[in-house]
Amino acid sequence: MVRVIVKSMLYGITVAPLLMASSVAVAMQVPARKTVLVIHGGAGVTRASMTEAEEKSARAALEAALRVGHEVLLAGKPALDAVSAAIVVLEDAPEFNAGRGAVFTHDGRNELDAAIMDGAKRRAGAIAGVQRIKNPITLARAVMEQSPHVMMTGAGAEAFAQSLGMALVEPSYFRTEKRWQQLQKALQAEKDHKTQAKAEAVQYFGTVGAVALDAQGQLAAGTSTGGMTNKRYGRVGDSPIIGAGTYANTRCAVSGTGWGEYYIRAVAAYDICARIEYAGQSAREAGEAVINREIPKAGGDGGAIVLTSDGRFALPFNTEGMYRGWIGADGVPHVAIYKNEKLAEPVP
Ligand code: ASP
Repeated sequence: MVRVIVKSMLYGITVAPLLMASSVAVAMQVPARKTVLVIHGGAGVTRASMTEAEEKSARAALEAALRVGHEVLLAGKPALDAVSAAIVVLEDAPEFNAGRGAVFTHDGRNELDAAIMDGAKRRAGAIAGVQRIKNPITLARAVMEQSPHVMMTGAGAEAFAQSLGMALVEPSYFRTEKRWQQLQKALQAEKDHKTQAKAEAVQYFGTVGAVALDAQGQLAAGTSTGGMTNKRYGRVGDSPIIGAGTYANTRCAVSGTGWGEYYIRAVAAYDICARIEYAGQSAREAGEAVINREIPKAGGDGGAIVLTSDGRFALPFNTEGMYRGWIGADGVPHVAIYKNEKLAEPVP
């Protein structure tokens, strides 16, 4: 009996009245399922690159994003709304490589990519290479909801935004001094090593992402990024590619961060969900296999957040740190940055 109660509570159903139903008439209470929101702010963070003040504001921004997303879930709204709301907070925070604070391309521009996916309906929207969209995740969602397409790029995506009445910002809005200096460092390293390939060791990941499970048991995933420092020729990474950096279905939601070329070739987000769906792996097993085995085996690195429809989640990564956090039904935000920093585990 205990097992029945515990298992059923996972789905938010109070079982005790059911067990008593034959003898006593008790009103059955069916509370909402437990909601969960998991976020990341990129897997490229290193202790050496952070001042104490930067670390403090990054943690505060992660907590703010979790709180905002949690409020949405608490109000009974869809996972999709929580994912967008949390990502907008992270895009607006200059600490992360998405929206304001995005990394620079080789020729000194900020080119932004984003994607969102509604797991329940398998709808998806994505944009790539935009330079004047303040909150790329909002436009990715508009592509999903207000156009027959899945992905739009560059000037076309911006024209679509204008047709919807979205205000465009000046490209200088995205500029931060820290990212500019990172580009200078990457350019110098490239000069020293003579090739871009060898200089890729000084790339900076910082993509933001969110996955959520709402009170109706529906999942969503979203990712937003400036891509990789010193990228060129209209390079697009994994983040806006459905199945590579972003994916959700009825069982699983994933957002990745890392060296995008490897995530694209590994079809990383989809592979994680496929392992969960077809091989019966847990979020942890599937995340470990793809992020910490397959991608490093191929020469890449990074991390991901993985959430399954039973509310379980994993945050695998193989870099020195990954901005990360989660918030459950109790509304307490939990965040961590570095590898050796323990992130509180949810109470089962
Ligand atoms: N995955 C992103 C890209 O390759 C970079 C990141 O995660 O920071 O564009």
